[in-house]
Amino acid sequence: MEILMLGTGSAWCVPEHSCNCAICTMMTDRREERTRTSFLVKSMESILVDCGPDLRAQMIAHGVKRPDLILITHEHGDHFLGLDDLLAFRRSVPEHSWTPIPVYATEQTWKSIEIRFGYLLNSLIERRLAFPGLPLERTTARITPFKTFHGESANGSVGYVLETQEADGWIKIVYTSDFMTIEDEPGILSEPDVLIIQSHWLNEPHENRPSHMSFQNAIEYIRRWKPRKATYLVHISDGDQVPGDSCNNFLKKLTPLSPLSEPNSSIPYPVPRCASEWQDVVDRICRDYGIPGPVVVTRDGMKITLD
Ligand SMILES: [Zn+2]
Ligand SMILES: [Zn+2]
Repeated sequence: MEILMLGTGSAWCVPEHSCNCAICTMMTDRREERTRTSFLVKSMESILVDCGPDLRAQMIAHGVKRPDLILITHEHGDHFLGLDDLLAFRRSVPEHSWTPIPVYATEQTWKSIEIRFGYLLNSLIERRLAFPGLPLERTTARITPFKTFHGESANGSVGYVLETQEADGWIKIVYTSDFMTIEDEPGILSEPDVLIIQSHWLNEPHENRPSHMSFQNAIEYIRRWKPRKATYLVHISDGDQVPGDSCNNFLKKLTPLSPLSEPNSSIPYPVPRCASEWQDVVDRICRDYGIPGPVVVTRDGMKITLD
């Protein structure tokens, strides 16, 4: 089976337009881009997980065919606004041969999707409900949503545990999507083969205003859940403050609570600006603090093959 990372960035992508902060400037110079986080699991079925406004470009870049089903984690635009782009699949098949694509989301999330995309229901997509703790019905893979806390503006937010049957047994993927905490953590989150976890910032901000996960806090989840094969970091933003950057007073740049520092020292790790700097810093932190690895900083277009 394969996981294709269609996008690995935050809600406004990185680099962000109209921004000349140290992170966006370096990424622009290096021609790097993180589009909205979304990925495709290709096993017996092809499962699209979240679909933001970059979906069309992501599908063209990777020749994505019609997915068998779609999982939506929550009601923020960067996670579902691409649904409209699926219409091109329907327009490109003979008349009367189309069957709607099942889309799973919680009841609360569906309220937002229906307001925006009610006209797609039953013709293009089929509304299916996800209940935290209960495996989804009518899927070949075992897919179990779990409740996450991502602030009051996303009360329907969930992550998903995807278990697919491969030649040598079952593969378990845990995907958290955007979150800050998980109350009543279900046991099913333990020891996945692969953990895909949000790392919106390197350092936990003094005030976690939009309710996202920092790598600093993700470490606790990696330690507790003990992924067997690897951890992948996604939904990376430009919200960290790079010391000395004149843009550190921007609204999106949040002051760290207590930045990650080298062991027995008060020297903070450097704030990463691009993908390779992110990986270098994460490798150093994992080595210094004995965090089970590998911990991989994803890039758009990355393919993860699992047997
Ligand atoms: Zn998001
Ligand atoms: Zn969100």
